[in-house]
Amino acid sequence: MGSNEQAYVQEAFDSNWVAPLGPNVNLFEKALEDYVQEDVHVAALSSGTAAIHLALELLGVTSGDLVLCQSFTFSASANPILYLGAQPVFIDSEEKTWNMSPELLEKAILDCSAKGKKPKAIVAVHLYGMPYMADEITAIGKKYNIPIIEDSAEALGSKYKGKNCSSLGDLGILSFNGNKIITTSGGGALVSKNLEHKQRAVFLATQARDNAPHYQHSVVGYNYRMSNVLAGIGRGQMEVLEERVKARRANHEFYKQHLEHISGITFLAEPEGFFSNRWLSCILLPDYETREKIRLALLEDDIESRPLWKPMHMQPVFEANLSYTNGVSENLFERGLCLPSGSNLVEEDLKRILALILKTI
Ligand SMILES: *Cc1c(COP(=O)(O)O)cnc(C)c1O
Repeated sequence: MGSNEQAYVQEAFDSNWVAPLGPNVNLFEKALEDYVQEDVHVAALSSGTAAIHLALELLGVTSGDLVLCQSFTFSASANPILYLGAQPVFIDSEEKTWNMSPELLEKAILDCSAKGKKPKAIVAVHLYGMPYMADEITAIGKKYNIPIIEDSAEALGSKYKGKNCSSLGDLGILSFNGNKIITTSGGGALVSKNLEHKQRAVFLATQARDNAPHYQHSVVGYNYRMSNVLAGIGRGQMEVLEERVKARRANHEFYKQHLEHISGITFLAEPEGFFSNRWLSCILLPDYETREKIRLALLEDDIESRPLWKPMHMQPVFEANLSYTNGVSENLFERGLCLPSGSNLVEEDLKRILALILKTI
């Protein structure tokens, strides 16, 4: 936590706005809008997953539809597609950013359309904070008139050609889960340049109550709004967001400086115009065995590290779903390791991690 979170939570108690609406919610949304810029409107929600669910619904995704989704991601990018009775079609990654391959995306669109099932939406992800190839992906979305949901859950503070992530797609989503770059313990947001999107999202997130003195409902709603207590934490966290980005990038810089020259260890570079918040610092090892050797050596010393995300097209739950693959994400999953990346790591921690890696490799 930064310094003012508790004071903003106290404001919620003092004013008795202990509900999923109130001044902290409005001020947190305003702080996010000011940060992201590009004239976006933000709806604060109970989670990033809820934000993806509402984004899909706003785009009219419904039972039987196909939605193209990045395979190399956390399962929350894909699960809401199934909540709506639609089916994800998984798209593998390219090697420059580890995100959705524009080539495979276009191939999937052409294939599905040829079978008479034009996909309804695209879920592209800025994984580990690295922006996806936005010019290429956006151009494909435009060419085939398929809207893009920009999963920026891991990418608050990241930029693409000077623009903040979450403002690049037709709809953006953010997450403030406990493990993200800033947190409200649990929370998320929907980001859109269209005010009607925000209004509709808030309406659906508060049980879709019609304008009447009694409780009247014409469509199915959800209980997805953010609590005013948690939004107080969010307001405080916005004040330290830039510090957090700096700290995460400094972790990455430390690992890179000391490990880059070791044969067999590689890092994902920031291409020109890409700015990553480096939410997690990841390394690639020559093979699975070396990766496991390092992971287990760290674990032996009570240091948690983790393999990169297991691609969705390899997950048992999505076994039956279509996928367009090229081996990139499978290879990353096999050889990649997320190193300790918290913004509260001190030099002593980093040195201890480094020494173990150097001793083990
Ligand atoms: C965390 C995360 C989500 C979901 O956010 P929650 O707030 O945990 O529901 C979605 N997509 C990605 C890529 C994430 O990392």
